[in-house]
Amino acid sequence: MTGLGTHILLDLYGCDPRRLDDLDFLKKTALEGVRRSGATIITDHFKQFTPQGVSGVVIIAESHLTLHTWPEFSYIAVDYFTCGDTIDIDAAIDHFSTRLHPETIEISRNARGKRLGKIPSEALIGKAFQHIRGWETESAGNGGSPEKRLLEYRYAVDQVLLKTRSRFQEIQVIENPVFGRMLWLDQAVQTAEKDEFVYHEMLGHVPAVIHGSPEDVLIIGGGDGGLLREVLKHESLKRIELVDIDAAVVDVSRRYLPFTHRAFEDPRVHLIFDDGMRFVTDKTRAYDLILVDSTDPVGPGEHLYQPAFYGACKAALKEGGLFTAQALSVWLQEKEQAAMFQNMAKVFERVAPYLATVPTYPGALWAFAIGSDRAFSPDAFDRSYARDLSGACRYYNPMIHESAFCLPNFMIERLEKQLPLRH
Ligand code: SAM
Repeated sequence: MTGLGTHILLDLYGCDPRRLDDLDFLKKTALEGVRRSGATIITDHFKQFTPQGVSGVVIIAESHLTLHTWPEFSYIAVDYFTCGDTIDIDAAIDHFSTRLHPETIEISRNARGKRLGKIPSEALIGKAFQHIRGWETESAGNGGSPEKRLLEYRYAVDQVLLKTRSRFQEIQVIENPVFGRMLWLDQAVQTAEKDEFVYHEMLGHVPAVIHGSPEDVLIIGGGDGGLLREVLKHESLKRIELVDIDAAVVDVSRRYLPFTHRAFEDPRVHLIFDDGMRFVTDKTRAYDLILVDSTDPVGPGEHLYQPAFYGACKAALKEGGLFTAQALSVWLQEKEQAAMFQNMAKVFERVAPYLATVPTYPGALWAFAIGSDRAFSPDAFDRSYARDLSGACRYYNPMIHESAFCLPNFMIERLEKQLPLRH
């Protein structure tokens, strides 16, 4: 190629002014546009202005993208500079255009560093990728010592933003080129920017919509704030208590996970740092929903999978209340999952599994478990409530709600024979 790269200037006129004042929306659009073009994200910074307008910058291994909005003129200016000729800039332009629906779009393309003459693209690719420091590995199956591991998932690390140890666990925040910013605890992926919404919407909205009007909610675990963000979307909500054993996880998430941190500022939220079992034990008929977003049944979360914990939660639920927990990997935690459902079935009159695909969780197909003494079934929920809510969601909608309870035969074999609820 001639020169170092291409600089695109985009002028988008006639956009929806509300979108141009929505920092989260613009940030998602910019990051997704950059990803679609095949560039490697290093970091980003976005700023909301008063009374209106947003500016943002995304630093990529291949240079940068910047944007600035003028909602009062329904106008946004985007600059995208990429070095080398491997980046599909048109994919990013298409993405901006699809998300912002401008009435008019003007594009100007400028070659940069033309005087440098012809530069082999391998030289630029080598430069762009030399920042990748290594790989972060999650082992699945037996975990533990290397010789007992059955398989490993490896994530390229663009940047380690934080690596620290709390009283309870090792905490890491890394940037991966495919899944974006990721929170890891004890070498296990907890939350990833690209797919966290699937898990958090499904853990929160399915029981909340079945309930119909949750006012008092308890989250056990969930220190990353993603589930909190989703539960706050329910207008009936009056008070939500989040009990995480590890204050450091909340602190790190507030500082490093921009896709969840705002939830902590809501006045309905009450943070408590304690063990979930200890906290719930002396509560009676206090909650409409208890949602467990804990780590796996090893380490500090182990006892949250035992009948004694489920019994304490049952006593803490109001009449008609629902308990829901993340219920492990369908493909890689068969034994732990079967034990969990058996334990829940010892306590709750009705127990139902439901499913969603979360690519960064080992095995991808993830289970959730609802337990309650009230009757509930997959098709009995307020569809108009679910439809309205789905306007604020990226995964959840009424069809997803109902179909999530459809189980493959091998899971019916494995779980439902032991469970009180059959469909
Ligand atoms: N969605 C994630 C997953 O399935 O991998 C879980 C994410 S969330 C960050 C898990 C949280 O559970 C952590 O912040 C951890 O500190 C918390 N936790 C673990 N054991 C706990 C306990 N006994 N009581 C309260 N919180 C606990």
